[in-house]
Amino acid sequence: MSENPLEPIFKTFQRISNSIQTQLFSFTGLAIHPSPSNEKPLLSLSPSNKPNSSYPTDISAKGKASQPVTKEDLGRSTWTFLHTLAAQYPEHPTRQQKKDVKELMTILSRMYPCKECADHFKEVLRANPVQAGSQAEFSQWLCHVHNVVNRSLSKPIFPCERVDARWGKLDCEQRLCDLQGTTTFGDDI
Ligand code: FAD
Repeated sequence: MSENPLEPIFKTFQRISNSIQTQLFSFTGLAIHPSPSNEKPLLSLSPSNKPNSSYPTDISAKGKASQPVTKEDLGRSTWTFLHTLAAQYPEHPTRQQKKDVKELMTILSRMYPCKECADHFKEVLRANPVQAGSQAEFSQWLCHVHNVVNRSLSKPIFPCERVDARWGKLDCEQRLCDLQGTTTFGDDI
């Protein structure tokens, strides 16, 4: 046999390892290739945090150079996360789920890794307290606050009656991704 029987395992391990490194690099801002577009990288290298020159530079699992994350990339990914969460949010959430979603928004307004955005979002939340009593209420509230941000950036206003068409539930076999809410109104856990 010409091939080492353990080689597929080593290759898989290497792919996973590369993928983790790619993620870590993009989250820590240590990506070392220039942005492809005119979007300004959110984080860039300073001389003091440059990786050792012997460190591998092209670390993407697919052979694609890793790119710095821009404020726009981060925004799109975060909105995708939030609107998908809203689409998956239960019709009848538990008390804990309502509390969690409010805390999540508060934490986002403190920890969002773009300070100007976080500060602005704090004000948006102050003027528009989270409404998450049901799936419809939460997704409409989120659409509204996303529009507040859109307006401040002179972006088009999204028609919130179309939010369910734009952001459907996660495509997940046998509804394994569904968040479980309460089965009846009085069944708060
Ligand atoms: P995005 O606004 O990222 O939207 C992604 C997609 O969502 C759109 O293509 C559209 O299909 C859909 N969409 C748009 N509006 C709605 C809506 N109302 N409801 C449902 N779906 C919608 N950037 C700044 O420069 N300054 C800031 O202060 C700032 N604050 C932010 C605060 C938060 C909490 C977040 C998550 C992002 C913030 N951003 C900010 C980033 C900004 O909102 C955009 O994400 C970024 O500019 C990229 O915009 P985009 O045009 O690709 O679409």
